[in-house]
Amino acid sequence: MRWTLIGASDIAATRVIPAMREVGHEVVGVMSSSAERAERYAVANGLARQTDALGDALAWDADAVYISTTNAFHRDQAIEAMRAGRHVLCEKPLALEVDDALAMIAAAREADVVLGTNHHLRCAATLRTVARLVADGRIGEIVSVRVNHAVVLPERLRGWRLDRSIPGAGVVLDIAVHNADVVRFVTGAEVEQVATFVANSGLADGEVEDAAMTVARLRGGALATTHETFTVPYADTAVEVHGRLGSIYAIGVLTQDPVGTVVVRTSSGDEHVEVGEREDLYVVALREFAAAAKGDGRPAATGEDGAASLAIALAALESARTGSAERPVFQVAA
Ligand code: NDP
Repeated sequence: MRWTLIGASDIAATRVIPAMREVGHEVVGVMSSSAERAERYAVANGLARQTDALGDALAWDADAVYISTTNAFHRDQAIEAMRAGRHVLCEKPLALEVDDALAMIAAAREADVVLGTNHHLRCAATLRTVARLVADGRIGEIVSVRVNHAVVLPERLRGWRLDRSIPGAGVVLDIAVHNADVVRFVTGAEVEQVATFVANSGLADGEVEDAAMTVARLRGGALATTHETFTVPYADTAVEVHGRLGSIYAIGVLTQDPVGTVVVRTSSGDEHVEVGEREDLYVVALREFAAAAKGDGRPAATGEDGAASLAIALAALESARTGSAERPVFQVAA
C-alpha cells in the first residue's frame, strides 16, 4: 500500500511511518500547511515528496491517506481525500462534531473507499484478549468496567492540546475518546449515557480541561468509569472488567507499546493469561486497514467506531458543562 501523509505530526514520525515501513508499505510524501515544515519533515523522515497544497498531495500516486493534523482539520481533509479516491485512515477524534464524522462516513460510502479511525488500543494483544475473554463468557454477565488512563503528557506534546484557542484541545477529546472506544471494544456494548466532571490540574490553560472522570451507563445495564489526565506521572494504567463470575485485570495496557498483563480472577484463583504475539499496535492497525482496502475485513476501528467514540466524548464535555447526565447523539445500531 502506498501512503500519502496529511500532517507533519509527531505521531506519524514516531509511530506510524516506522510501522508503515515495517509492514512493507511505501510512504510517498507529506503535506503540511507550511512549505518549510513539509521540507524539513520530508528530509527528517526520508520522504521523497512534500507539499503545502492538499490538491498536490492528492495527485500523488498513492492508495491511501493517513491524516494526523490537529483535530479541526480532519473532516475536510478526509472528505477531500476520499473524493479523490483514496482510502483514509484518520486520527482520533475523527472530527469535532458528530455530524462531521457522519459526513466523513457518507463520503467514504459515496467514493466506495475505506475510512478507518486510528484507535490503536484496539490493536493491543492484551485488550484483544480481554475482549475475547468477555465475549467467551469467562466472567459471566458484565457488571462494570473501569478504565484508568491517568498519565502525564510528554513535554514535547504540550502545545495545541493545552491551548483553548485551538479547537479540539483538552484531555477529553485526546484521551477520553480512546477510553470510550476501549469500553465499547472490550464489552461490545454501546454507551447510552455519561456523567462527567473535568478539572484543570495545573498543566492546561485555565479554560481547557487536563483531567476528567466519567461514569457511563452501557446498553444492557452495566456501568463504566473512565479516568484520564495529562498530569499524573506515576499511576498504573488499567482496564478492569468485572462480571458476575469473575474479574479481568489488564494492567499497564493503555500505552502505545505492546506491553502489560492480563489476569482473570475467579473462584479458582488468579490465572495469568497468555496474550499471544505482542505486535506493534500501529503495525496491526495498518495491516488490517490495508486488508480492508483490498476487500478483506474491516479496519480495526471503522469510521462508525470513530463517530461513536466522538459522540461519547462530546456528551462527556456537555455533561461537564451542564452538570447533567448526557446521551451520546450517535450509537452504532445493535
Ligand atoms: P503534532 O502537534 O505533532 O502535529 C499536529 C499538527 O501540528 C501537524 O500536522 C502540523 O501541522 C502542526 N505542527 C507540528 N509541528 C509544528 C510546529 N513545530 N509548529 C507549528 N505547527 C506544528 O500532533 P500529534 O502528532 O501529537 O497529534 C496529531 C493527531 O494525531 C491528533 O489528531 C491526535 O489526536 C492524534 N494522535 C493519535 C495518537 C494515537 O496513538 N492514535 C497518538 C498521538 C496523537 P502541518 O501538518 O500543517 O504542518
